Amino acid sequence: KVTIVGSINVDRILQIDQLPQSGETIRMQDFSIAAGGKGANQAVAAARSGAQTSFIGAVGQDLDGQMMLNKLRDNQVNTNAIEVMNSSATGQAYILLQATGQNSIIISAGANADVSADQVKANQALIIQADFVMAQFETPLAATIQAFEIAQANRTITILNPAPATAALSEELLQLTDIIVPNETEAANLTGIEITNETSMRAAADKFFALGVKVVIITLGSRGVFMARAGFDKIIPAVTVTAVDTTAAGDTFIGSLASELHADFSNLEAAIVYANRASALTVQKLGAFPSIPTRAEVVASI
Ligand code: ADP
Repeated sequence: KVTIVGSINVDRILQIDQLPQSGETIRMQDFSIAAGGKGANQAVAAARSGAQTSFIGAVGQDLDGQMMLNKLRDNQVNTNAIEVMNSSATGQAYILLQATGQNSIIISAGANADVSADQVKANQALIIQADFVMAQFETPLAATIQAFEIAQANRTITILNPAPATAALSEELLQLTDIIVPNETEAANLTGIEITNETSMRAAADKFFALGVKVVIITLGSRGVFMARAGFDKIIPAVTVTAVDTTAAGDTFIGSLASELHADFSNLEAAIVYANRASALTVQKLGAFPSIPTRAEVVASI
């Protein structure tokens, strides 16, 4: 069982030749709307890999919010603890995708900013009953700390995905974190150590261990992951594939890892191998939700 405290966004992808100048009107080449938000992506990844998945989050009282609730329910995610706020809009991301492949993103946290410690407390049964609780940095820190405190008091394992990257390291949060899963940029920002080789990865892991983190997994894109536990570390390579769109690769990795991992970490390496396979499937398809594989698809890809 996995419970996510996290973000829900609607992504609007505007394909344009180039960014408009101030005062200029341009036409877009193509437009699409996609379900997203790190929390929502991770929930769908966990659910499609077979975990019983619940979500603590917020959307606005608008069509985007209805769409996201429906999409999460379609994926068997329990949405009972998602609040519908009447004073905020659903979280938004406008992705300006230029012909060069470069993108510029404008986001509005909307209802994601309203997720509170009180809301988490009111839904604490979902954390107490779960094997794992997962959070990211797209919802308020106070809500995540509350969730991790409840988890720690009830032997639920906490997984932190410290994304998007922030320079501010919350020692209070890291002390409540069992498993941290940053990418290279996030690991560097949090520890102040530039991640260049295995020595620097070990040094970064040691910083997390000193704060009480038990497992450090640094994702390395097409190179796979660096995993470390006290006194042991290893690189576990990615599956070699041709990447089309890496959106949600990290989210698929984390969600499918939480679904596969045993609560005593006894199958940690096998669970990472599984999560690498799941995210290798995600990078071969466009979009966030549509690219996240089911357990059957991951098993069939071996
Ligand atoms: P993020 O998207 O959060 O920055 P990464 O780029 O590190 O995260 O990717 C997360 C995981 O997705 C990697 O550890 C790997 O398992 C998988 N992955 C990402 N890019 C590729 C790729 N080009 N080929 C195969 N697997 C990939």
